[in-house]
Amino acid sequence: MTASQIPLFDPQAQYARLRSQIDARLRSVLEHGRYVLGPEVAELETALAGLAGVGHAVTVGNGTDALQIALMAQGIGPGDAVFVPAFTFVATAGAVVAVGATPVFCDVDRSSFTMDPADLMRRVERVPAGLTARGVIPVDLFGLPADYRAISEVAAAHGLTVVADAAQSMGGALGGAAVGGLAPVTATSFYPTKPLSALGDAGAILTDDAELADRCRAIRVHGGGELAGLNSRLDTLQAAVLLAKLEVFEADRARRRAVAARYDAAFAGHLDLQICPPGVASAHAVYAVLSERRDAISEALGQQGIASRAYYATPLHLMPAMRPYSEGPGQLPVTEWLCARILALPLYADISDAEADRVCDAVLAFLGAQPDRASAFSAASAESR
Ligand SMILES: *Cc1c(COP(=O)(O)O)cnc(C)c1O
Repeated sequence: MTASQIPLFDPQAQYARLRSQIDARLRSVLEHGRYVLGPEVAELETALAGLAGVGHAVTVGNGTDALQIALMAQGIGPGDAVFVPAFTFVATAGAVVAVGATPVFCDVDRSSFTMDPADLMRRVERVPAGLTARGVIPVDLFGLPADYRAISEVAAAHGLTVVADAAQSMGGALGGAAVGGLAPVTATSFYPTKPLSALGDAGAILTDDAELADRCRAIRVHGGGELAGLNSRLDTLQAAVLLAKLEVFEADRARRRAVAARYDAAFAGHLDLQICPPGVASAHAVYAVLSERRDAISEALGQQGIASRAYYATPLHLMPAMRPYSEGPGQLPVTEWLCARILALPLYADISDAEADRVCDAVLAFLGAQPDRASAFSAASAESR
């Protein structure tokens, strides 16, 4: 008998578990007929604002639009520099380019994988000629909130506006405050593999600033004649799905946290992992290990029906699309080091303990339970700090 396949994410399994609640809500939308920005959208926005502990949630078509609209609503555009980590999904910088501003890539912290505030400071102080430093987009990578305290200090000292990219971190927290309330404005995504997920594209902007929220609401419906806008309305069907999934949101996060803890225990002493600083709660969107042999590990897992992915294998500054904004290889050493070693493993609420153990056993069997040597950089960089 061959063992079953274990995917990286499994949104279908979650749908199967919640089928009756989701189907009932979808049917209700199909029948009432207000298919765009309908009553479920307003209900979802109230629920999201409550979850984030902020005054306003503005749902939009996807997470990239949420970032773009948050930038547009603050007048960020041509001639402005916006600092982004180089170790993230391409959309973080894509939104900056879409508004005509210039992304400036920052390195990340070796252990948290999120933006290094010291590197941000260095790059803000030598912003390229002809550009005005206007914004910074910290990314909560793999669900782990960035170091908002330190980043906000740099931002305040240099007049930068902070837009949080929380596409992967809904449900996370920092020092007791929920994601969504860690920056003056937060953009998130409900893409099917994110912690809170629709059955298609969806996103939201979260803020305590009523005027900013009003501008975002105008921009998502063509700008209302006052502002330049987009069409980024949310489908009512997706809001209905999200309302059904909010019922199990905390339970699912707790389950992913338990699976991540199981992996941590199995891999401790064998592989380098993302380290969660004290006082930070991850949303556990992605579980990743570091290894110089990650391609061979991935192949060995694949032979046993276990999915894994080098995630993200290419730093933003080395992508062809970002060449106009890049100084080329060698400028962002931690990011490049991580991209060469990172490997994401299966993590989702519906994975069983037995399946998670199969993942652990397969990885450890490959390593021969010998400690991996990925730590060379951490020893060197720890000394230099
Ligand atoms: C998914 C993601 C986005 C974009 O969200 P979409 O809904 O796919 O547009 C932006 N930033 C990060 C870090 C992401 O993971």
